[in-house]
Amino acid sequence: MADGKIDILIAGGGFAGLSLAIALRQGSGGALSVALADPAMDRASGDPRASAIAAAARRLFETVGVWPAIAEGAQPILDMVVTDSRLDHAMRPTFLTFDGEIAPGEPFAHMIENGPMIAALLDKAREEGVDLRPLAVGQFVNEPARVTARLSDGGVLSARLLVAADGARSVIREQAGIAIHGWDYDQAGIVTTIAHERDHNGRAEEHFLPAGPFAILPLKGKRSSIVWTESKAEAARLVALPDAEFLAELEQRFGLHLGDLAIAGPRRAFPLGLHVARSFIAERIALIGDAAHVIHPIAGQGLNMGLRDAAALAESVIDGARLGIDVGAVSVLERYQRWRRFDTMAMGVATDSLNRLFSNNSDVLRLVRDVGLGLVDRMPNLKDFFIREAAGLTGDVPKLLKGEAL
Ligand SMILES: Cc1cc2nc3c(=O)[nH]c(=O)nc-3n(C[C@H](O)[C@H](O)[C@H](O)COP(=O)(O)OP(=O)(O)OC[C@H]3O[C@@H](n4cnc5c(N)ncnc54)[C@H](O)[C@@H]3O)c2cc1C
Repeated sequence: MADGKIDILIAGGGFAGLSLAIALRQGSGGALSVALADPAMDRASGDPRASAIAAAARRLFETVGVWPAIAEGAQPILDMVVTDSRLDHAMRPTFLTFDGEIAPGEPFAHMIENGPMIAALLDKAREEGVDLRPLAVGQFVNEPARVTARLSDGGVLSARLLVAADGARSVIREQAGIAIHGWDYDQAGIVTTIAHERDHNGRAEEHFLPAGPFAILPLKGKRSSIVWTESKAEAARLVALPDAEFLAELEQRFGLHLGDLAIAGPRRAFPLGLHVARSFIAERIALIGDAAHVIHPIAGQGLNMGLRDAAALAESVIDGARLGIDVGAVSVLERYQRWRRFDTMAMGVATDSLNRLFSNNSDVLRLVRDVGLGLVDRMPNLKDFFIREAAGLTGDVPKLLKGEAL
């Protein structure tokens, strides 16, 4: 595809942008021309994170044919425990336990390292004929029935739809004049990988400590991914510690149940916040993934929400195209926005409330949340609902997330 006219230009090759590109090419049987630009196209190796991929997202990966490339490295979450305690408590009372299956043999989530997952999506996008450009999308202008964007090499692409999948600091969103609601938490999530002596048996743990949640998420082998919330200043201090001192701090929170620990990956602190775009659409523009919303990782849902956006937008575009409707038409974009915006607000409010309820040292709030968790633990129907919610299988689920092709 030479510089010139295409159907859809996607800015950003993270999980949301790549999944959308693949779904559009497959759903249109190759009829829609799709270009995807990202200046950090090969960033996969630099991300220390692993993500909880909910069952619905796994079904999307299966449907678009990416799952076989990542299945071997995917660790099913077989059960989950939630505790609530102070740092100096010798015992951590367990308030909530979940069995990890939504159906026999189908875990509600898998833990997968971000690097291999992005690499598999890139390979599939290439195979499907997505025009991949290692460039940034810059200024764009709306023209009759098109939007024309300049790329960082000076080239120009004119598309009927421009998708902003360019992450939390989306320049496309900013240029489109779309404001964001929300706030930064004075918190950062420290992410690292550790190796341990004993097997985790697929168990995920979430410990609600006074500074915020401390999650131990199982990876393949005797390894776990840590997402450790602290105040921004404390997180910066901890990340800069020499290995031995960092490990000592980590051991204090991790406990001794998995035996000796060793650092098995780089560490990095990610600032945390809650931001939702005032609108998910503008003239011939759609926002997906973190460009549309950033939530606290307390429930491990940010990436899963981005995949839900990608699936809903792909379905809206493909259904419209089958009826002969322009891929950037207002009716297509409004259907996408109606589908995703309310859902996103609900998830944003839920994760914000959870974070506020748990990231503190108040004895009264501790009592309230522990009674609440204890009650949920005794109600199988409610637990079942939470598991289906965490699996991404509630509400108006887009086809790809149900495992159906477009
Ligand atoms: C500590 C932590 C733990 C998390 N754990 C989980 C989890 O367990 N489960 C989960 O579901 N979510 C999790 N998340 C959230 C998840 O990581 C993000 O929601 C997800 O990575 C966002 O994907 P994205 O594709 O929308 O954006 P990004 O991954 O941010 O990708 C945006 C891309 O756009 C590119 N770009 C930027 N500007 C331009 C431009 N001008 N032109 C073209 N390209 C551009 C960038 O190079 C980048 O590659 C976590 C987040 C944090 C911080």
